[in-house]
Amino acid sequence: MRQLGFFVDSAACSGCKACAMACRDRNNLPPGVRWRRVYEVGGGGWRREGEAWVPEIAVYNLSIACNHCEKPLCLDGCPARAIAKREDGIVVIDPAKCLGCRYCEWACPYGAPQFDEAAGVMTKCDLCAGLIERGGRPACVAACPMRALDFGEIEELRAKYGTTAEAHPLPKAEITEPALVIRPHRDAAKAKTAAALIKNREEV
Ligand code: SF4
Ligand code: SF4
Repeated sequence: MRQLGFFVDSAACSGCKACAMACRDRNNLPPGVRWRRVYEVGGGGWRREGEAWVPEIAVYNLSIACNHCEKPLCLDGCPARAIAKREDGIVVIDPAKCLGCRYCEWACPYGAPQFDEAAGVMTKCDLCAGLIERGGRPACVAACPMRALDFGEIEELRAKYGTTAEAHPLPKAEITEPALVIRPHRDAAKAKTAAALIKNREEV
């Protein structure tokens, strides 16, 4: 089976949110529904080294959507069988079958399913399936001015960019086996000791 996925270069991401805006525009998303979210991660302070105080700070951005996981807990959690994994690995929600129970939202550790209050159904990123079937690129990938996003066959992305699929504060990759490759920002290695948190909670 094929498996399409995303690459996210957190080291290159400027946090401009053009990806999230392009996603919103392309998919005509209502207010509060965020298929792609850009986490602004930050924390740290000063550490004493002998007589000197040195900064230990972690600050970076992480742009995340649905990861079209190889073990999609959203799908397992749906009592209406409204979520399916396509032959190309893209995980989709059928709004005609969705009960609006929000179980998938609780099951997904990435916060990818987003509830449309007006329509009463769950929605999420479909990797711009309609665009890529016509040879295009997902709207977020095409919009990024830093070329910090890419998509494609996950094995090709891993061969090109490596196999890292987690970075603070994302969950352990073994939980859902996300079709995701991350190039972590250099600060990600000290994010835990710096107690870095998502700083823009109200936006994501
Ligand atoms: S990121 Fe969440 S919604 Fe997307 S496939 Fe994985 S478990 Fe499902
Ligand atoms: S468009 Fe690119 S640089 Fe801007 S926030 Fe998204 S991933 Fe980061």
